Amino acid sequence: MHPDIFKHIDFKNPANRKLVVLGAGESGVGAAILAKQKGFSVFVSDGNTIAEKYKLELQQFGIEFEEQLHSIHKIEEAAIVVKSPGIADKNEIIKKVKQKGIPVISEVELAYRYCGESKIIAITGSNGKSTTTALMYHILDKAGMDCAMVGNIGISFAKQVALAPKQWYVAEISSFQLDDIIAFKPHVAVLLNITEDHLDRYEYNFQNYVNSKFRIIENQTTDDYFIYCDDDDVIKKELNKISITHTNPLSFSMKHEIKNGAYLKGDQMMLRIQEERVSMSIYDFALKGKHNTYNTMAACIAATTVGIRKEKIREAVNDFQSLAHRMEFVATVRGVEFINDSKATNVNSTWFALESMNKPTILILGGIDKGNDYSLITDLVREKVKAIVCMGTDNKKIVTAFKNVVPVIIETASAKDAVEQSFKLATKGDVVLLSPACASFDLFKNFEDRGNQFKVAVKDL
Ligand code: ADP
Repeated sequence: MHPDIFKHIDFKNPANRKLVVLGAGESGVGAAILAKQKGFSVFVSDGNTIAEKYKLELQQFGIEFEEQLHSIHKIEEAAIVVKSPGIADKNEIIKKVKQKGIPVISEVELAYRYCGESKIIAITGSNGKSTTTALMYHILDKAGMDCAMVGNIGISFAKQVALAPKQWYVAEISSFQLDDIIAFKPHVAVLLNITEDHLDRYEYNFQNYVNSKFRIIENQTTDDYFIYCDDDDVIKKELNKISITHTNPLSFSMKHEIKNGAYLKGDQMMLRIQEERVSMSIYDFALKGKHNTYNTMAACIAATTVGIRKEKIREAVNDFQSLAHRMEFVATVRGVEFINDSKATNVNSTWFALESMNKPTILILGGIDKGNDYSLITDLVREKVKAIVCMGTDNKKIVTAFKNVVPVIIETASAKDAVEQSFKLATKGDVVLLSPACASFDLFKNFEDRGNQFKVAVKDL
């Protein structure tokens, strides 16, 4: 049993029903709206400036907030604190709140407590979350289910629960959200892969990050499903340590046959779940590339466990439209193809991008390094990359890692310059691939901004 963190709250007493939300992005504002609706006295505090859009929302719901400061005396009056995923545990305010014994939860935990009988399909992993979440939602939606797509993609889970509750939620869940759960329990949990990412938030200890990802199944029961990639060494190693008996494991592999789950036989995906037997040609999948075959397999298994008919699943995986900034074809300029994979913010996703290249490649790399180990892509770079164009304010680590691997490395500090330099280095038949393996905040607002500036620069050529 979990501690009932709401037990000490007297909803009739304004002094005793205070909930503080730290951070006012999509997730924090969603939590504030839901908490207010459920009778809490809500106060939102953000150490940075709050985006205009979110200020308006908070005002609209009559929620008190502050920006560019944290009034500790007000925060310490809270009965509960909801922490936005962007705030690290080592943050001074969080430390103080925890010292005082105030429970700290994530926005998905709050949303879970108010989502009633509705069911959650939660998708996590180091890469592929948004793609798989969008595909999963597309399958459910096409099958006519009452569903919404929530989390990093779309609106926050809490806001959806407050404003437009559904029977099913397809939720993209990050490790930061999982760090502060208590009772959160998805009916279907999907773990796509685990590779090094966000180590700066996990004391540079990979196991802490692995543990965080596995919390997605922590509260599951024998009525639930756990879908994971059987080709992922990190997941497999972890599963050798813990035996899964409290939920129903199903897995997927491109390397070997799977008893319960999905695997490849030639170009057919074979699905075996209880009595269900389905085969589908992977050539019909709308999402191309090896990593996307994994994502599609995971979504097909999940859809089968919730009872969607195979015809519907087949139709949906065939006509799904892929997301921008993920291996997105931009244009071919004088025989040089440009691909925008701006969403590749870690080495593993760049690995998959390079793996799918079959032409000589000019690779645009760089940005904010989150503890990258570039040796993971050295072999692929040696084999496929003719030049690296760094795009970042500090490129030292990339230059050191690849100076003896590729003949040409140049440094740039804008999308325009990076595109122009890449184009100069390219000859007809080459590909210019933006797959930076890093976060974007040094030069851009976010990965979308980086991808958009890249696309504009390509169009300007
Ligand atoms: P996330 O939401 O986890 O960041 P996205 O679906 O936005 O994932 O994809 C992020 C990046 O990872 C893209 O560059 C994409 O091409 C790559 N990618 C997608 N799925 C996978 C996967 N299963 N394994 C590795 N890389 C992937």
